[in-house]
Amino acid sequence: EADESASILDGLDPDQRVAAAHPGGPLLIIAGPGTGKTRTLTHRIAHLVAERGVEPERCLAITFTRRAAEEMRERLEGLLPGRAARLTVTTFHGLGALILREQHERAGLPADFRIADETERLEIAREMTGSDKEARRLLAGFDGAGGPADPEARGSFEKRLRERGLADFADLLRLPVTLLGDDPDLTARYRERWPWISVDEYQDVDETQYSLLRLLSGAEGNLTAIGDPDQAIYAFRGADVGFFLRFEDDFAAATKVLLTRNYRSAPAIVHGAVGAIRATSLVPDRVLDPQRSGERLIVVQESADAQAEAAFVTSTIDGLLGGTSFHSLDSGRAGGHHDEHLDFSDIAVLYRSSAQAEPVMEALTRAGMPYQKRSHDRLVRRPGVREVAHELRHHGGELTGRIRAAVETLTELHDETVLRTAAELLTPLAVRCGDDLETFLGELALGAEVDAFDPRADRIALLTLHASKGLEFPVVFIVGCEDGLLPMRLPDTDEDEERRLFFVGMTRAQSSLYLSGSRRRDPSPFLRGIPGKYVTRPEQAARRRARDQQLRLI
Ligand code: ATP
Ligand code: MG
Repeated sequence: EADESASILDGLDPDQRVAAAHPGGPLLIIAGPGTGKTRTLTHRIAHLVAERGVEPERCLAITFTRRAAEEMRERLEGLLPGRAARLTVTTFHGLGALILREQHERAGLPADFRIADETERLEIAREMTGSDKEARRLLAGFDGAGGPADPEARGSFEKRLRERGLADFADLLRLPVTLLGDDPDLTARYRERWPWISVDEYQDVDETQYSLLRLLSGAEGNLTAIGDPDQAIYAFRGADVGFFLRFEDDFAAATKVLLTRNYRSAPAIVHGAVGAIRATSLVPDRVLDPQRSGERLIVVQESADAQAEAAFVTSTIDGLLGGTSFHSLDSGRAGGHHDEHLDFSDIAVLYRSSAQAEPVMEALTRAGMPYQKRSHDRLVRRPGVREVAHELRHHGGELTGRIRAAVETLTELHDETVLRTAAELLTPLAVRCGDDLETFLGELALGAEVDAFDPRADRIALLTLHASKGLEFPVVFIVGCEDGLLPMRLPDTDEDEERRLFFVGMTRAQSSLYLSGSRRRDPSPFLRGIPGKYVTRPEQAARRRARDQQLRLI
């Protein structure tokens, strides 16, 4: 035991070790990207279990996305072989659903309540409003888009949901908060169950999530909150970085640990990103010390239009992977000759909004390069998925039999859009070889963000900047670094949040970072924050070389 735990803390630097070994009580870990926050969190949990004799069942670890939860579970599996399955590692919505399943009676829901899909929500809304258009407007209000929702309408909507034995996505968090808030005994039982709570990416909690945490941990509980205010990117959906900034006031005698060593990115990327965020940083005296070495600079590229930009992306990838078409763009120090071996899966292309992926996908397809796109939709909201999931859960017999039945259901549905979404449902199942069907269906029912994205596949990752949070890739392209795309220029755009999004994107890169845009718009103002000495502009350099040559000829 002792040896095992020694090796757990050995993998950490001194500051990380202080955080991981913190005895108890509220703990705030505040640190920039790539400083090992997530790593410290997993090691802290492993240390609690392996060294301090905490039962795995007493630990609750919360993340924002399913992908992040999966990754955390994998890392914990490595640190606590055989015991990680007994930990509760979940998303906020997964946690809400877990509590709601256990307390369904108090919430007025049947034991087998389901999460309403989009068709059902629309049906109910149409009943209430009389028209499709009004129904959509009402739902948009409930989803946080377009101003606050009318509480009376929400009440009536909920009543209709309950009559059908349904909860909707927002209920997963709101109902547990109400139940626990109304019943101190119930709250006490959950506190006993999970005395050790950790939350990653705490800068993005919203009020309901904060209330749930606060109920579960109390003001003096062993709550570890980890995050980076400069990576707060979900205000548009109700997140409030204020909860992070107020942590020390909200939780009694909280301990604060700062991490400043960046282990992820080459120095130019670290310094460049800090320069880009500095103007609006929410962290006083932001310090980020690169631990890696390397001379490679950030490449800034301007192309004529989005098609030329996509061509730049593919030719650069071709060059990085050892193809031949790239080297004419190489300026010597940047891009090109990568010292480590690269696979397609080492490369990510990030963009502000999904539509920007189109030209990139076309170019990659033409170049014969495999890619996968992360989709943000909640499958459960899409038509057809409910039926197929129902088949999978209820059709008796072996798994293969169930899948066959599901496919039959699909065929009967005879609808192109249904077939497509259902295929997306079955693909991740096939990826997982169907071994954890129940878990998968459970998560599907929660409305988790399920898609066919397979982190183990050797494909280039296409992601929105939002979806890239917490991840890392040796090579990162951010396309559309243009004023109007990044930042977007909509009436309600929060430019500071757009800048943080750019900061998140830049800091995903380990070795190479390409910031590209087209001359259709002005360059993104965020580029100006990056000190010139960390940037190379190969295309300008090439133009200069050509001009010099011409001058020599004259
Ligand atoms: P983000 O803010 O982007 O979520 P993070 O602070 O959570 O970043 P991690 O993902 O935990 O950072 O770590 C970044 C990288 O640095 C990972 O590859 C991790 O393994 C590595 N790393 C972290 N701490 C150390 C360490 N002490 N020694 C070696 N590598 C480390
Ligand atoms: Mg992290």
